[in-house]
This record gives sequence, structure tokens and C-alpha cells, in this order.
Amino acid sequence: MAGKKNSRSVASLLAQAAHYVDPVTGAVAPPIHPSSTFARGADHELIGEFEYSRSGSPTCNHVEDVLAELEGADGALLFASGLAAFAAFFETVDAGSHVVVPSVMYHGGWSMLLRLKQKRGLDLSVFDVAESNSLAEAVVSGETAVVWVETMLNPTWDVVDIAEAAKIAHEAGAVLAVDSTVSPAVTTRPLELGADIVFHSATKYLNGHSDLTGGVLASAKADERWSEIASVRTLTGATMGAFEAWLLLRGMRTLSVRYEKASENALRVARHFEGHASVSAVLYPGLESHPGHAIARRQMTGGFGGMLSLMINGTATDAVKVVTALELVIPATSLGGVETLIEHRATVEGPDSNVADNLLRLSVGIESADEIIDDLEQALSKL
Ligand code: PLP
Repeated sequence: MAGKKNSRSVASLLAQAAHYVDPVTGAVAPPIHPSSTFARGADHELIGEFEYSRSGSPTCNHVEDVLAELEGADGALLFASGLAAFAAFFETVDAGSHVVVPSVMYHGGWSMLLRLKQKRGLDLSVFDVAESNSLAEAVVSGETAVVWVETMLNPTWDVVDIAEAAKIAHEAGAVLAVDSTVSPAVTTRPLELGADIVFHSATKYLNGHSDLTGGVLASAKADERWSEIASVRTLTGATMGAFEAWLLLRGMRTLSVRYEKASENALRVARHFEGHASVSAVLYPGLESHPGHAIARRQMTGGFGGMLSLMINGTATDAVKVVTALELVIPATSLGGVETLIEHRATVEGPDSNVADNLLRLSVGIESADEIIDDLEQALSKL
């Protein structure tokens, strides 16, 4: 579970998947070990470091070592989904604890926190990223146990200043956990900026091919909380399977180039539609007009990513009409894959959603930027 800290560049580390060369065959692609159990030796001792795959297995372990190095962490753990990782983290937070989160966050995580509030008396406070003192005012010194932030915020793509959030959380005696799903380590390394825990839905950019669900937690320190998180994973059986772990590693090997191309394409799309007659606003941190642009320039050193939202000039019905008129861009939830996806976020989140009716969320992929723009143009022209 222990990772090595930052010995190689992120691009090289990812491309070579921890520099694997099979010592017996010379194979440069790592093997899959699907075994659910591991044999014991002559004195009934374990032969290797594994016993039973629910608590750890060689393929997951390999990927976890790469992830730990990628994040500059003492350790990383794979989970069956992002939400399984989220649940494992909050399972280690005592009942009744004070937890601070942004007022806009991934709606599945928010739903789980509301459930924990009801079932375990979690004391929830929210802060507004747009208000400069809001986080400092939401934390209670000596009482707040966890500050959980997401960056960028979905679907406004507001950027949380991680270094500042870490300072505020630590001064109050709280832990800072960062959901960095849309700002992977090729662009942002939350632990280097002072966070204690980094979270990813591996379903998104890390894997990048929309063909697995997975989650990651990585910890700056292999402390007591970290051991407890590992125990929770074993006890709840939220472990990732060997085949998914192998596929995830394969996806991660191209993360640098995928992220670079998606960032380049998204900036082209954002610039094209800024000021467009059918679009009232483009939300993308790479645009100078975005309120999070200055922080993003500092904190997203490898590009602004592929996520952007278009606020169209029209109603919810008009927004859905645009989505259904698209021919190249695929109408589907999720993000961070090689293919461009779009969704009418208010419909997807349902009646409790606080997302604007005219907002279309795009996860820009690695297709031709010209063709993505042409497709959006022809769909908007149907309004
Ligand atoms: N965090 C963010 C920012 C997400 O976008 C998602 C999923 O959309 C999750 C967490 C949950 O991850 P998963 O769907 O892998 O459980």
C-alpha cells in the first residue's frame, strides 16, 4: 500500500505504468491476477503479502502504487466506484461530527451526506466558493472534523483554492479532503498544496474510456485514519476487481495526452461560443472571463480540462432540443472520457436540482475540435 514519493515526472510515470518489466518474461504490460485467494506455505504462513482479494490483491496493489506516486501520497486505495470511496471516507468520520462542504458539489455525494446527517447526526455546513470569507466563516475551530472540497465545482467549474482551504482547515484542526476527479494529477496535485486526502472517481479522467466504474482515495500520511479507511474497505467489500484495476492502469497510461488534447479542444469550444448569439454564458476556467481563472492558472498547471457549461439563450425545453439535435456529441451522463458527452444537467439531477434550466454540461473529448464546434452550431441553429 505504500507509494514512492515523486521520483519521476507525471507523464513518464503514467506512460510506463510504474516502469513495469516482467522479471521472468520481459513483458512490458503488467499481468492480471484474478485470484480471489492466496495459498499458504509449508508452515501455514502466507507465501506473499496477500491473503484474500477483498483486502488486497497484486493487480490492485500495482495500480495503487502508481496512484500513490502520482499523487505524492503515502498510500492509495482502489474502490469499486467513486461513491464507494466517498462512503468509506465518511464511515471513518465520527457520528455527530461537523463537516463543511461547498454549496455546489457532486449531487451523489451530497445525497449521501444528507443521509448521514439523518442517520448519524452529521452536522453539515456549506460554504459559497464565490464568497471570499465563506469557508473561514463556515469552519468552527476545534469542532470541524472535515472540510471536503471539490475542484472544479460541477457544473459551474468554479475553482477552489486548495492551498487556502488547507490553511483554513488545519488552523481549525480539521482534515482537508479534495475531490479532484476533474483536475487529475496531470494538472493539480492536492496533497502538494496541503490537502490530507485526495479523492477521484476513477470512472472519469483516470480511466478515460467510459468502460469501468472505480474510485480512489490517497492519503498524505499513512496514519490511523488511513488504516481505518483500509479496514472499512475490507469490511464493506468495496474493493475493485482485478480486471477493472488492470483496465484502469491501461487507461491511465494515456492520461497525460488525453487530458492535454481535451483541454485544448475545450478551450477552442469555449472561445468559439463566448459571445455567441444563442449562448448567454460559457462557464470554463480557461476563459479570462471565468471568476476562477486566476486560481485555475496557478493551480491547474497542466491545462484547464475538458469540462465546460454552455448557458443557452432559451428555456429548459430549448436546452433539451439542442441536446437531441446533436449528431456527433453523445447525450449521456458522466465525464472525462475520450468521447464528447453532453447533458441537460437539471434533467439528470431531477426535481431537487439547483442547476440552471438553460445549462448544458459538456465533457469535451479528443475528437476534432472543428467537428465538435460544427455539431454544436448545427444543433443551436435549430432553436
Ligand atoms: N465526484 C465527482 C466529481 C463525480 O463527477 C462523480 C460521478 O459523476 C463522483 C464523484 C462519483 O463517482 P462514481 O460515479 O464513480 O461513483
